[in-house]
Amino acid sequence: MFEKLLVANRGEIAVRIMQACEELGVGTVAVYSDADRDAGHVRYADEAYNVGPAAASQSYLNQEAILEAADRAGADAIHPGYGFLAENADFARAVEQAEGITWVGPSSEAMQALGEKTTARKLMQAADVPVVPGTTDPVTSADEVRELGEEYGYPLAIKAEGGGGGRGMKIVRSAEEAGDALSSAKREGKAYFDNESVYVEKYLEAPRHVEVQILADEHGTVLHLGERDCSLQRRHQKIVEEAPSPALDDDLREEIGEAARRGVREAGYTNAGTVEFLVEDGDFYFMEVNTRIQVEHPVTEEVTGVDVVREQLRVAAGEELPISQEDVEIEGHALEFRINAENPADGFAPTPGPLARYDPPGGFGVRIDDALRQGDEIGGDYDSMIAKLIVRAPTRERCLERSARALKAFEVAGVETTIPFHRLMLTDETFRAGEHTTKYLDEEVDDDELREAVERWGSPDVETAADGTATTNEVSVEVDGRRYEVVVEDGLPRAAAGADPANAGGTTGGNGAASNAGGATQVAAGDAVTAEMQGTVLSVNVSPGEDLSGGEVVCVIEAMKMENDVIAPAGGTVAEVPVAEGDAVDMGDPLVVLE
Ligand code: ADP
Repeated sequence: MFEKLLVANRGEIAVRIMQACEELGVGTVAVYSDADRDAGHVRYADEAYNVGPAAASQSYLNQEAILEAADRAGADAIHPGYGFLAENADFARAVEQAEGITWVGPSSEAMQALGEKTTARKLMQAADVPVVPGTTDPVTSADEVRELGEEYGYPLAIKAEGGGGGRGMKIVRSAEEAGDALSSAKREGKAYFDNESVYVEKYLEAPRHVEVQILADEHGTVLHLGERDCSLQRRHQKIVEEAPSPALDDDLREEIGEAARRGVREAGYTNAGTVEFLVEDGDFYFMEVNTRIQVEHPVTEEVTGVDVVREQLRVAAGEELPISQEDVEIEGHALEFRINAENPADGFAPTPGPLARYDPPGGFGVRIDDALRQGDEIGGDYDSMIAKLIVRAPTRERCLERSARALKAFEVAGVETTIPFHRLMLTDETFRAGEHTTKYLDEEVDDDELREAVERWGSPDVETAADGTATTNEVSVEVDGRRYEVVVEDGLPRAAAGADPANAGGTTGGNGAASNAGGATQVAAGDAVTAEMQGTVLSVNVSPGEDLSGGEVVCVIEAMKMENDVIAPAGGTVAEVPVAEGDAVDMGDPLVVLE
């Protein structure tokens, strides 16, 4: 096994990989950009090296700087995670060629062969795997596109060779659209993937996205770990994933798994990988291979018990996979929810900002993969993921119930997140029934529903107080010993919201509230309103027998040269007023007793 592994990535996946290293006794090295000096993956690693400025192109994509960090650290392996350099065959080759460093992934040749989508389609066809009908050679003219339109019928998809995540893909609905779609697919291919080569395939109207997790070692074992269903997508981006797929029966499951195995065997592939398919009307078609670990790998881990990252490391170190295909058993059901800093009510626009509150759920069957902690900033430089919530249960039905429980307890404040969207999906009949296609979210879930979900379940309003502590307009009060959560419509005055005895005496005097808002600081303890600071009673405003509805000023206390209103936290009848004007009181002394 390796001695020290450098993770050329950031965020949750970097931490996930380092966790696997730790369990294998492998030392960990992080790389980070200027924007990530105090990021979670840096805190987690044994050692860390700065590889450049915030812009990914100058840091996490800076091959030379990463190799140099590996050299300085004396790392003997590099794991690329997903995104950034993970599917860059040139970088894999550079690592392979570097003295004493192993690339944790498939060989650069296998990456190259499968990374270009047309070569991959040819390989799959050679292995007798059905591919989406279309070309296996690049297409260059609009006339060619129109000829294919005649042959397969519209719509068609023009896809960038190097594309992914829906980028570099253009849909052509009629012969007239061919020219424009072709040039814009080329442009995107060039801009995002530095490859303007494109090809054409039939665009399926309502498919399911089903993908198979593969693990292959250097000793001839190729395993599939069953499939994941990633049909819940927004604009071709996955947002909820699950295993197994509710769209497959056992025969189709077996067929797809075996097809994926045949395909990667043909390519001489090793390490972990994912073969993606579209499934429509009981037929399946190969779409592409992702030659790396994927965001959604945990759902497979949860239903198979196989630690995919650990096996990636073992395979890269030349070890044999510890199981054979017959040992792979799918048990129960798992769902993964991407918790992103995005506002579902605003077209899922990213919402960078500080995580004023971050309190993820736990309990039976709940797993959180993350790298952030409360107070961290979600920057605008990288993707918007906060965490992945992975939920496991014996059946899909129970997994949905458990997910509802976990999402309800997932507390985030400061930035809007995808949590309200997920909670909405758990009430959505089509999703609950497992009948959604890749088009469902874009075509059937309307903006009003999303807006209502955010209103109902969105992050609480948070302002960051001058001293940096976050305050919300939610308070909890106790009335007759029972606790109530109360939302104050117009927010709380800042000093009051802090409910912090250190502040309550008026140390926040800078806000000019010398006589009034300076300290509505007392809360009820059982039936008595008590002093929250040492001071002098300036006035007593209530007398025994008086009925209060809550919110009245019962007395005013002077402390640290500030006048502080003491407010009745709840309604009741005044039973006793143990203090009088001019009295000195200590913290905790009863001021007014309510019945
Ligand atoms: P990736 O799987 O890397 O995100 P793709 O861009 O190949 O990349 O595909 C993303 C999504 O686009 C798929 O999950 C699917 O929803 C949609 N898609 C791709 N090709 C087709 C097609 N031929 N017909 C219908 N939908 C497609």
